[in-house]
Amino acid sequence: MISSSQIRDANERIRGHVLRTPLVVSQSLTERCGFAVALKLEHQQTTGSFKLRGATNAILSLDTAAREKGVVAASTGNYGRALAFAARAVGSRATICMSKLVPDNKVSEVRRLGADVRIIGNSQDDAQREVERLVAEEGLTMLPPFDHRDIIAGQATVGSEILEDMPDAITVLVPLSGGGLAAGVTAAVKAKNPKTRVIGISMRRGAAMKASLDAGRPIEVEEFPSLADSLGGGIGLDNGFTFSMCRDLLDDVVLLSEAEIAAGILHAYQHEREVVEGAGAVGIAALLANKIADIAGPVAVVLSGRNIDMGLHRRIVNGEQDPFGGDKE
Ligand SMILES: *Cc1c(COP(=O)(O)O)cnc(C)c1O
Repeated sequence: MISSSQIRDANERIRGHVLRTPLVVSQSLTERCGFAVALKLEHQQTTGSFKLRGATNAILSLDTAAREKGVVAASTGNYGRALAFAARAVGSRATICMSKLVPDNKVSEVRRLGADVRIIGNSQDDAQREVERLVAEEGLTMLPPFDHRDIIAGQATVGSEILEDMPDAITVLVPLSGGGLAAGVTAAVKAKNPKTRVIGISMRRGAAMKASLDAGRPIEVEEFPSLADSLGGGIGLDNGFTFSMCRDLLDDVVLLSEAEIAAGILHAYQHEREVVEGAGAVGIAALLANKIADIAGPVAVVLSGRNIDMGLHRRIVNGEQDPFGGDKE
């Protein structure tokens, strides 16, 4: 578990390195729902997602020698961007391992953010083996994307800020994948007000944490393409922190169809004038679809990221609802 003092320390450590993002009332959702709804605009965070918080906290928590040698991970998505940026910003160095199948735009983006990119093998597993080799042979420190105390404590600062800005929030909606964000936000929120309900939200197909919570232990699930691509991937069969924290702290988990997620992206754009990726829109989507039983306000909704392909965004805004065909199967 993550203690209140670890969260306070993380707040101190990362202040000045990450944005304190605004929490703004949504007029349209407040009118529609009949209770106050505020949006935590964490998609406006530097690098486009909250992952910068955990990455920055984890690197700043390393001793000087480890920080100088550098950190390594195998993420191609928002975590890769965040780790690359955070490392450079605090005078460390990130190595990001990717397979040959990762598209060029993702490779060049991570490189642009200052990481040393290693292209190796034909799968994520090959990239992960290279990470392990660099840890063993070159002494780099592996920082995983969610299942790590300092990462969770960094993500928890999103929750602290929400309750600072909206002390009477009684429901908080959080996107859920590996559970670093949900575990951290829940720990922070419940430390300030144990009565506040925190609901995790995932896509219907390939929701590894939900399947694991139902099974009572970490399990693997099949992956599917989804509008909420940042919510894909497993939680790790040897999960050390986020599974038990989500099991013990989260009040509920809700799953959404592709069309519901598309409606969330569209609403964010049309009514809030915000570009959010699918994973970042699931909280809005859950409200629009009336998916949360017995919901009470005031509600805070975490918009977690904005890194969506702009061609795909345009298609959603033009009314497409299920570009990956996930709802037909
Ligand atoms: C990583 C990510 C999530 C999920 O975070 P976890 O800590 O893995 O649960 C949600 N939204 C966005 C935009 C992300 O990048």
